Amino acid sequence: MRVDILTLFPEMFAPVLDHSILGRARKKGLLQICCHQLRDFSPDPRSRRVDDTVFGGGKGMLLMAEPIARGIDAITEHLGVRPRVVYMSPRGRVLDQALAVELAGTENLCVLCGHYEGVDQRVLDEYGAEEISIGDYVLTGGELPAMVLIDTVSRMLPGVLSDAECFTEESHFSGLLEYPQYTRPEVWRGRETPPVLLSGHHENVRRWRREQSLQVTKEMRPDLYAAYLEKEKAAKE
Ligand code: SAM
Repeated sequence: MRVDILTLFPEMFAPVLDHSILGRARKKGLLQICCHQLRDFSPDPRSRRVDDTVFGGGKGMLLMAEPIARGIDAITEHLGVRPRVVYMSPRGRVLDQALAVELAGTENLCVLCGHYEGVDQRVLDEYGAEEISIGDYVLTGGELPAMVLIDTVSRMLPGVLSDAECFTEESHFSGLLEYPQYTRPEVWRGRETPPVLLSGHHENVRRWRREQSLQVTKEMRPDLYAAYLEKEKAAKE
């Protein structure tokens, strides 16, 4: 998978995307990430300006359509194909595991990071950009949301994690949250590890974990629990 990022702050990405699982995925060639400075696509190379005031009034500036369009066009020309364009936006579809799985099937993804008041609507319309939010709150720019998106999508790419089980067993993949987990020592400050986990009985461990997943989801996210029960019911019918 290749991800092209259009941003005013390309230098923000390396400290996150060069390390750990993503860093290794990039070294192995499973994931290619290219950050592009939006100012390089300004129609005015001297000022490198990319923003202007908002029509109709209001505080703040807006990213202009043309530099973004030029950026997407340059990426398209380089790739030889138009990438799937997503715009990180608090108005967008809220990112969840299902969307991450779906995006992981994309060969070329272009992630647009907004700033100031956002971007001119016309460039989103022109390129059919999909708006994706990381939650119902507003951040200063699209860089942190883009990193969140890229991190979660990358985990789904074949070969990035040692085993697909690493993510299929995690919270949200099946619609449930993960069961509690324990490591050494068996007793810590008087708190014991549930004996079933030390029993070596795989079927009992599997059953215990499933019961715990259901319980944790019911307590912490009743909305997810209700949706899971609905899905189970529909599957049976
Ligand atoms: N005026 C915009 C609004 O009210 O919807 C908010 C603009 S915000 C200050 C600047 C940029 O941060 C946005 O263009 C977007 O790229 C990014 N951003 C902010 N919150 C976000 C969120 N929850 N999810 C994804 N991107 C977000």
